[in-house]
Amino acid sequence: MSISIINTVKEIRSLRHSFLLNNETVGFVPTMGYLHEGHMTLLKNSIISNDQTIISIFVNPSQFSPNEDLDTYPRDLDHDLNIIKNYLIKNFNNSEFLKILNKITIFKPEISEIYPSGFTMDIKNQIGTFVEVLGVSEQLEGKSRPTFFRGVATVVTKLFNVINPTIAYFGQKDIQQTIVIKRMVKDLLMNIIIEIVPTVRDLNGLALSSRNAYLSDEIKNQVICINQSMKLANQNYLNGNLNVNLLTDIINNKIVSTNPNFKIDYISFNDPINLNYLSTIDKSKGAILSLAVYKQD
Ligand code: AMP
Repeated sequence: MSISIINTVKEIRSLRHSFLLNNETVGFVPTMGYLHEGHMTLLKNSIISNDQTIISIFVNPSQFSPNEDLDTYPRDLDHDLNIIKNYLIKNFNNSEFLKILNKITIFKPEISEIYPSGFTMDIKNQIGTFVEVLGVSEQLEGKSRPTFFRGVATVVTKLFNVINPTIAYFGQKDIQQTIVIKRMVKDLLMNIIIEIVPTVRDLNGLALSSRNAYLSDEIKNQVICINQSMKLANQNYLNGNLNVNLLTDIINNKIVSTNPNFKIDYISFNDPINLNYLSTIDKSKGAILSLAVYKQD
């Protein structure tokens, strides 16, 4: 027994139609593949709450800029199938396993299926339809990757149009992405529930990510101070420190004193709804803390 894999828009639409005729709800987990336990929590949430689950594996070119890692992004379907099967074996008993396997479909389209008019990486010469969510795409990650969230919103719209899910699952790890998607669904009147799933981390506190395949074990051990510094700041905040400058110093000191060759790119506190940069945190709203660190050799 194996998981069914669909590669074309036509076939996935027809499968979705059959689910509709059976009155079945559909959970949707969009991914770029090279799956790990983080993706599996999204899958598990979908399996539990829906009759059917579709998980897409698509490395979306429009969210990469020409100098990024589109060509080297890890891709391995056998790896992905094994991760799913092993996760199900570990989390469900024998009789449930086969039933659940039958209720999961992988959608793994080629670029030409998702971009039927063609696609160029040359941003200045891109034409056609893109989805932009203004006001929440320019801060944080959007600052260093100006067309990233346009690419994400565009591909998620296309996938929603094809799959028409009842509920779609996104990880809190990519918190700005969740804000962009929620805003897009609201603004474009899409009839889809968006569920945000907590981040899965490794023992060092590092969020699991397909791109962690690029990190050495040495670096993975050194980054433990990043998560510790955020926890320290959070504890301080819970004890009543709402001053962003002071909280920033706490994080900075913890990271640099533990690892002097770590350099802080930025530490920022943003409003959880509109992503405005904060200087003081309003305790009734909270804040999103993000930071980027690089290692100087
Ligand atoms: P990606 O394949 O990296 O585009 O991720 C696909 C989905 O999985 C996104 O909604 C991510 O936020 C989510 N995701 C990735 N890593 C994790 C993680 N460590 N914990 C929870 N969700 C995650």
